[in-house]
Amino acid sequence: MAIQQKLSLMIPGPTPVPEKVLQALSKHPIGHRSKEFQELVESTTINLQWLHQTQNDVLTITGSGTAAMEAGIISSLSKGDKVICGENGKFGERWVKVAKEFGLEVIKIVSEWGTPLNPEEFKKILEEDQQKEIKAVILTHSETSTGVINDLETISSYIQEHNTALSIVDCVTSLGACNVPVDEWKLDIVASGSQKGYMIPPGLSFVAMSQKAWEAAEKSNLPKFYLNLKSYRKSLLSNSNPYTPSVNLIFALDESLKMMREEGLNNIFFRHNKHKLAMSNAVKSLNLKLFADEKHLSPSITAIKTGEIDAEEFRKTIKNKFDILLAGGQDHLKGKIFRVGHLGYINDRDILTVISAISKTLLDLGKVTAQEAGEAILVASRYLDKN
Ligand SMILES: *Cc1c(COP(=O)(O)O)cnc(C)c1O
Repeated sequence: MAIQQKLSLMIPGPTPVPEKVLQALSKHPIGHRSKEFQELVESTTINLQWLHQTQNDVLTITGSGTAAMEAGIISSLSKGDKVICGENGKFGERWVKVAKEFGLEVIKIVSEWGTPLNPEEFKKILEEDQQKEIKAVILTHSETSTGVINDLETISSYIQEHNTALSIVDCVTSLGACNVPVDEWKLDIVASGSQKGYMIPPGLSFVAMSQKAWEAAEKSNLPKFYLNLKSYRKSLLSNSNPYTPSVNLIFALDESLKMMREEGLNNIFFRHNKHKLAMSNAVKSLNLKLFADEKHLSPSITAIKTGEIDAEEFRKTIKNKFDILLAGGQDHLKGKIFRVGHLGYINDRDILTVISAISKTLLDLGKVTAQEAGEAILVASRYLDKN
């Protein structure tokens, strides 16, 4: 029986939390209207802008990533507005549900799970909209359910040509993992969440809002109160919050953003990219197939098909034997794939360990030879050695 409670989290959120960040969380709370807290809001806001590569407002909400997306939608749109929703996985489906719940008229652009959204379909529908009835394009950058990254840069350029529609983007598993230059790509509303690339526990989410998004907010008539981003913007002018924020999570955020600044954006992106390459190539060398189209792999999550092996049993074995938590497949993919999260506070050792655990489990099942099991480590090392 292995020693448990030395859990390695290799799921796409919550992600592992650095010791320094845990210590910040355990401090005694301070008053959220105090000068000390205002200073914290000021510094975290500056660092959030750095992370988003934007001069725009970045607002912090107490709530998970879904709250940030919902806030973006209800703060900028009005009843009956026509929107395009990109849907190629579980999260894309979620935004369709949210949009419909608030009475928006949804045009879906669908792509099969595991494949990316086709930017040309966005272009076509946007070009045909001569009356400028489409008010927003809502999509997921890194589709966590399938391990696919969508071509946000190209889609955003088509939204620019339309000139009226806002982009509302879920960057929950791309921000802090790969390049998402909010200003350069002219993204209007960008949502993310604390338990992903930010390396802090769940509970905070973030929304970047462009000038164009604020102009739309002036006309928005969807019902909202707690998630009305205009309130957050007003409070932010005095480095404050409209309601009591999760003070301790802000301590943690301050610490994690400082760690990210110390590492530097390019190093963070490089690290995620090499982990993606090490993971995807190692599992291929183990005769497993990637679920996602190989030219469009997410930097933060690798989805792996298990063929005739039950993916849920496979995950359970890895949890019981090695105390590594992997994510399963969602909906129709349950039992067919497992997903390895390599997002946030992940180092080369984590990657080598999870590959070893996968190799050993396949060896025990008689699916690979000892030679192949060992070679997977060599394959991964080729990418990890790069600096
Ligand atoms: C985790 C995640 C979210 C946010 O989900 P919450 O449970 O609300 O934090 C949204 N989109 C994607 C792509 C995610 O991976």
